[in-house]
Amino acid sequence: MLNLIALDGPSGVGKSTTAKRLADALEWDYMDTGAMYRAVTLAFQRAGITLEDSDKVCRLLSSLDYEQKGTSYYLGDENISEAIRSPEVTKGVSAISADPRVREILVNLQRKLGQRGNWIVDGRDIGTVVFPQAVCKIFLVASPQARAQRRLLELQAKGISTTIGEVLADQERRDHLDSTREESPLRKADDAIELDSSNLGQEEVVAKIIQLFKQKNGGK
Ligand code: C5P
Repeated sequence: MLNLIALDGPSGVGKSTTAKRLADALEWDYMDTGAMYRAVTLAFQRAGITLEDSDKVCRLLSSLDYEQKGTSYYLGDENISEAIRSPEVTKGVSAISADPRVREILVNLQRKLGQRGNWIVDGRDIGTVVFPQAVCKIFLVASPQARAQRRLLELQAKGISTTIGEVLADQERRDHLDSTREESPLRKADDAIELDSSNLGQEEVVAKIIQLFKQKNGGK
C-alpha cells in the first residue's frame, strides 16, 4: 500500500481544489497530474509539433524539463502556472493526453515522484493505472450543470469571458475524449468510493474524504 490518496473524476468536478485542501489538512504533498498533461500540450503548441511528427514528439518528450514547486508549475526556469490554464491548452490537452508516448513518460514521472512521501494525487487514471495500490481511492462526480457552473465562475474570476453554453460544450467534449480513449480512459476503479459533490460545499467534500480515508487506514 502506498500512502497516497487517488482522486479521479471528470473535468470541472473540483478535484484540484479538493486535493489542495486535503493536502493542507493532512500536511501531505499534492501532485496535479492534469498540470503535467497541460505542460506537455503547451510545449507541443509552442514548438508547433503535432502528434504525427514522430521524431520531434520523441525528442521533446525525452528532453522535457517539467517540475512542480508547491502549487506552481515549471518548464525549465519558466513558471507556466498561468499559461497551462489558457483556453488553447484546455482545448488541445485531451488529444495530446490520449497519446501512449505522452502517457508513458508522464506515468513514469508520476510513479517516481509518488514512491516517497505522502501524496494526494488527482487525475483521470490514478486509481486504475498509475497507483492502483493507493490506500484510498475517491472518484468524484457532480452533475454536468454543477460542474460547468463552477468552471464558469472560476474562468470569470480570471477575467476570461465565456458563457455557460461554451463551458458545457467544452466539458462534454473533454469528458467524451477522456472516457472513450484506448489508453487509460477515465473510469472509476472497482475499489474506489464514488462521491457526488453536486450538492456539497468544498469543506463538506474534504471532511467526507478525510473520514473515508481514516476508515480505510484503520482509523489513523
Ligand atoms: O485535470 P485537468 O482538467 O487539468 O486535466 C487536463 C486534461 O489532462 C484532461 O482533460 C485529460 O485529458 C488529461 N489528463 C489525463 N490523465 C490524468 C490527468 C489529466 O489524461 N491523470
